[in-house]
Amino acid sequence: MVLAQLGGSISRAIQQMSNATIIDEKVLNECLNEITRALLQADVQFKLVRDMQSNIKKIVNLDDLAAGHNKRKIIQQAIFNELCKMLDPGKTSFAPKKGKTSVVMFVGLQGSGKTTTCTKYAYYHQKKGWKPALVCADTFRAGAFDQLKQNATKAKIPFYGSYMESDPVKIAVEGVERFKKENCDLIIVDTSGRHKQEAALFEEMRQVSEATNPDLVIFVMDSSIGQAAFDQAQAFKQSVAVGAVIVTKMDGHAKGGGALSAVAATKSPVIFIGTGEHMDEFEIFDVKPFVSRLLG
Ligand code: GDP
Repeated sequence: MVLAQLGGSISRAIQQMSNATIIDEKVLNECLNEITRALLQADVQFKLVRDMQSNIKKIVNLDDLAAGHNKRKIIQQAIFNELCKMLDPGKTSFAPKKGKTSVVMFVGLQGSGKTTTCTKYAYYHQKKGWKPALVCADTFRAGAFDQLKQNATKAKIPFYGSYMESDPVKIAVEGVERFKKENCDLIIVDTSGRHKQEAALFEEMRQVSEATNPDLVIFVMDSSIGQAAFDQAQAFKQSVAVGAVIVTKMDGHAKGGGALSAVAATKSPVIFIGTGEHMDEFEIFDVKPFVSRLLG
């Protein structure tokens, strides 16, 4: 995973700084420049990186640190905290409760891994004793319903969709109604994607959202989209009330920086990451362990 390279580069920069006999402005700047370079190479948005650098400098004011202070520790801690801050929007997302009906709507571009992630999310909860259900409101992509149906059948999760109906709003409403009646506690609505951000997609998303009134909207993003992540996530956020992010394909050659940008753009936490094509290749995302692991 290229993310490991990012972690490795940051760790090396911190190590070099730690090895210096005296920690002065020059040593600190060199360390921060190395980290900046690593983050930019990992496709983290430029503004985020610049803000992080200036924040660390503010926290680590070398002139104010008396000789007795452990400067290395303070700098390391500041870097750790700033990386966590980039990934932590400072608020948690709506948390569905087992046994109480919640509607969760998934949005994202075509190919982002949305349909796969819907099943992974359902399967994850099913294993924990929930009663999830899947609604395929993607009437745009031919084969979307078949894909969802296959996944759902494999995982023994109830599903709803139609080969004939072309109105995604109608299907979404019918599916949600049905599963509410069946006392499902996690009703997952998969919506259409498009190859690119376009007005028709956003309008459709708005309509489905208005009609089904979801408790949570999850934005699914492919981790390999690089610098485009920030704008894409922001565009989705402006159309529907995105409350959480799931980043997919973290197992691939993704640089990973997109995840950081998506958090910043949507001001929503990453709640899970996709780490493969299989149903169980899905992990809960926690900021601090993630950053700790990143830094080795
Ligand atoms: P959608 O168009 O957004 O619904 O995307 P799909 O769910 O059809 O996924 C597109 C492709 O990405 C499929 O081949 C999936 O198997 C694959 N995919 C989805 N999530 C992951 C992941 O976390 N890792 C990997 N390696 N592939 C994934």
